[in-house]
Amino acid sequence: MTRRRTKIVATLGPASSSPDKIEQLILAGMDVARLNFSHGEPDDHRNRARLVRELAEKHGRYVAIMGDLQGPKIRIARFLNANVTLVAGQPFTLSNAHPSEEGNETIVGIDYPSLVQDCHPGDELLLDDGRVVLMVEKVDEYSVHTVVTVGGPLSNNKGINRRGGGISAPSLTDKDREDIKLAAELEMDYVAVSFPRYGHDIEEARALVEAAGSQAWIIAKIERAEAVADDRALDAIIMVSDGVMVARGDLGVEVGDARLVGIQKRIIQHARTHNKLVITATQMMESMINSPLPTRAEVSDVANAVLDHTDAVMLSAESASGLYPVEAVTAMARVCLGAEQEPTTTRSQHRLGEAFTRCDETIALATMYAANHFPGVKAIITLTESGHTPLIMSRIRSGVPIYCYTRHPGTLRRAAMFRGVYPVAFDAAQLDPALVSDAAIEKLKEQSLLEEGDWIILTKGDFYSNSGGTNAMKILKVS
Ligand code: PGA
Ligand code: MN
Repeated sequence: MTRRRTKIVATLGPASSSPDKIEQLILAGMDVARLNFSHGEPDDHRNRARLVRELAEKHGRYVAIMGDLQGPKIRIARFLNANVTLVAGQPFTLSNAHPSEEGNETIVGIDYPSLVQDCHPGDELLLDDGRVVLMVEKVDEYSVHTVVTVGGPLSNNKGINRRGGGISAPSLTDKDREDIKLAAELEMDYVAVSFPRYGHDIEEARALVEAAGSQAWIIAKIERAEAVADDRALDAIIMVSDGVMVARGDLGVEVGDARLVGIQKRIIQHARTHNKLVITATQMMESMINSPLPTRAEVSDVANAVLDHTDAVMLSAESASGLYPVEAVTAMARVCLGAEQEPTTTRSQHRLGEAFTRCDETIALATMYAANHFPGVKAIITLTESGHTPLIMSRIRSGVPIYCYTRHPGTLRRAAMFRGVYPVAFDAAQLDPALVSDAAIEKLKEQSLLEEGDWIILTKGDFYSNSGGTNAMKILKVS
């Protein structure tokens, strides 16, 4: 049996909050449930988190929960009649002085005083993920005066981006600070930070997450032009995060859709070389919001992210508010499995010519080298506390499954996001050290994942309860 290596993140929303739907999503292959703090009330998230935990447990599955902070998205205010249609060539004004409920075809309020400082004549502003485009003509004390260059319908509270980035809102809002507490209360496994500009924004989020008593890993959403301005800027954010998301919705608006594909590939590659996770997100199966089947282009998009070795592919509206949430997960799972049959996805260059920086990293990479070159090896078993060793292992391309053995529920769930890694509940500290290897092998034999004559590689530390202590690998034959 070939198991899918690329993981699936599905956003839960109105279309996917019933016990029945959440159970179907888990059975279809959801590995991570994303709770989007941009929508819904705290109790909606509480209910979803509780259902995910209960139903995953019922089926013996580990499903991580990722809370996605709203961040400082700048939005227009509201229209008198809920929406308007803007016409190319006509003037349109964004104004801090205009009443927030009284927008019309020529003017709308904004609740962001510094927009007038951030905008200059000649700037392009993109509304509603770029569906409407405005060219800035003139800026005064309260207002940004523009001409519509791409017209279309525009409704209440749509987001504003500037082409090239540079709108200077701080990264964490008061709402984000409250939502971090909620993430801690619900023991979420990941917290995603929206619109970070620099590593500092991530460090600030991490301090708040830790202060709230949460052990969540931090995912930086790469969605600002500043974050991808050059490799140094990108690496600085990657280095202080546990993982990154290629947040193509906002990033595509800021850098332009044509640049996005190349930048996506670069982000995936940089994240992996820094031993970090990477999620590819937004519009992957967009047409499945209304259709039970993806287009060829969507299949190709998911498959390409898999071939580039993303850890996870993500569904947003497709699973949160579309008509076919379960079908979207099923289609993604099928496409991932298909793409993973391509031999390049399991062949590796093993960072030849590179120096390792840590003992556990050295063991992890030596293990992958051995596994990929000794054809009898059918499994890697890594006894771990934090999940760091299997994470490093899975940065290397391989067809050999990596089993993350741990006694910590949080580590089991987090590892569900790592490409090619499968969580197994196992408490080595409770066993006679002489029996640990046999017991570990027995667990996989019970599930028919190993048979007599197979080889396995097992990694461990001298003590079964020390984080970062992995210092040994053993090659064993299954008898
Ligand atoms: P969002 O982030 O869905 O919260 O906007 C993802 C993206 O921008 O692609
Ligand atoms: Mn975004």
